[in-house]
Amino acid sequence: MSTKHSNNLQDLQYFGEYGGVNPSISDSSTYTFISAKTMFDTFEGNTEGCYLYSRHSSPSNLYLGEALAALEGTETANVTASGMGAITAVILQLCNTGDHIISSRTIYGGTYAFMKNFLVKLGITTTFLDITDLKAVENAITPNTKMIYCESVSNPLLEVADISALSRIAKQNTLPLVVDNTFSPLTVSPARLGADIVIHSLTKFINGTSDCVAGVVCGSTEFCLALKDVNNGAGMLLGSTLDSMRAASILKNMRTLHIRMKQHSANALYLAKKFEQDGLRVVYPGLSSHPGHLIMEDQMNPEYGYGGLLTLDVGTLENANTLMELMQEQKLGYLAVSLGFYKTLFSAPGSSTSSEIPIEEQEEMGLGNGLIRFSIGLDDDIERTYSMMKKCLMDLKILDSTGIKA
Ligand SMILES: *Cc1c(COP(=O)(O)O)cnc(C)c1O
Repeated sequence: MSTKHSNNLQDLQYFGEYGGVNPSISDSSTYTFISAKTMFDTFEGNTEGCYLYSRHSSPSNLYLGEALAALEGTETANVTASGMGAITAVILQLCNTGDHIISSRTIYGGTYAFMKNFLVKLGITTTFLDITDLKAVENAITPNTKMIYCESVSNPLLEVADISALSRIAKQNTLPLVVDNTFSPLTVSPARLGADIVIHSLTKFINGTSDCVAGVVCGSTEFCLALKDVNNGAGMLLGSTLDSMRAASILKNMRTLHIRMKQHSANALYLAKKFEQDGLRVVYPGLSSHPGHLIMEDQMNPEYGYGGLLTLDVGTLENANTLMELMQEQKLGYLAVSLGFYKTLFSAPGSSTSSEIPIEEQEEMGLGNGLIRFSIGLDDDIERTYSMMKKCLMDLKILDSTGIKA
């Protein structure tokens, strides 16, 4: 296991204009200058601490960016209006027509669709492969390859990428390793393991209140400034700018992230162990039956646990749907996409968030249509949650007293 993770989030302090304990929100799209010369220099990017226009940068977005850079241990970070806003900007910044991407085949459905359906319009091609097969990754590299892309813990199959090993391959070939760490904030620190760029959908665990959509790119000062360049920065020109009010609100929610992650992880581990004992087909990186368990142990920050996501395969879509409806009736959670909420959220990824992936490919990667993805909530009494979930499984005869039936 890695040594204790010291994130210095606690040390960041910003005061409001009147000494408030929260920083003031920059409620302006544009900023005045006393001298025309300073305005020109700011436009050219030559003045520290001056603001010009809020699509470029704003104090509230910079505060949030600094907190996220501290979280991931990168030099700096740019916040964006969504996770996809971060992903698309990074890819378009790194790749030109004719270029090639190597990507894990089990990634967020939107990212998969962007690479597979959208980038081809620009002449950028992607090889999707099993990211745990390091030989396959090495073999897929061509002279046109411009990046290796994966998720630390993949959506929805919870495959664990060996980030240190991938980073070695990337460095040997002078390629950037881009890691989407949305499923495992605090739990995994990709940049500390050698990733060059770390992306999050802040919409999920980091904000944690399911009240907004936002994203971030964490990386070197050089790369983040390039993204913001007024002449050719993909972040600046594609215009996925987070609103200052939201940035301020996400920063406040981030202060409880460490407490929430511990509780999500503890609850998910408890349920995963119980479901496994019951003979159910449960996938959770904290179980020794998980193929990536040892890699996870090796690269995680153990105090935050194995994360809040688990999957349960109940055999058929019909089983999955009736179970989810029943659990929702019993107030065990919501039948909803997304993750990282205080309440458990469940959905069948094959028919929802991964529906962009063709059925044959879903089957090949083990994404059966009876698969339910759970984002386990912050439940205070997880034993009670478990007994109520078990009763739902028994009532639907997905489970009987001898174990799984489906
Ligand atoms: C949700 C999600 C995204 C997309 O983020 P948005 O904020 O919805 O744009 C990207 N990657 C992963 C792993 C996600 O779960």
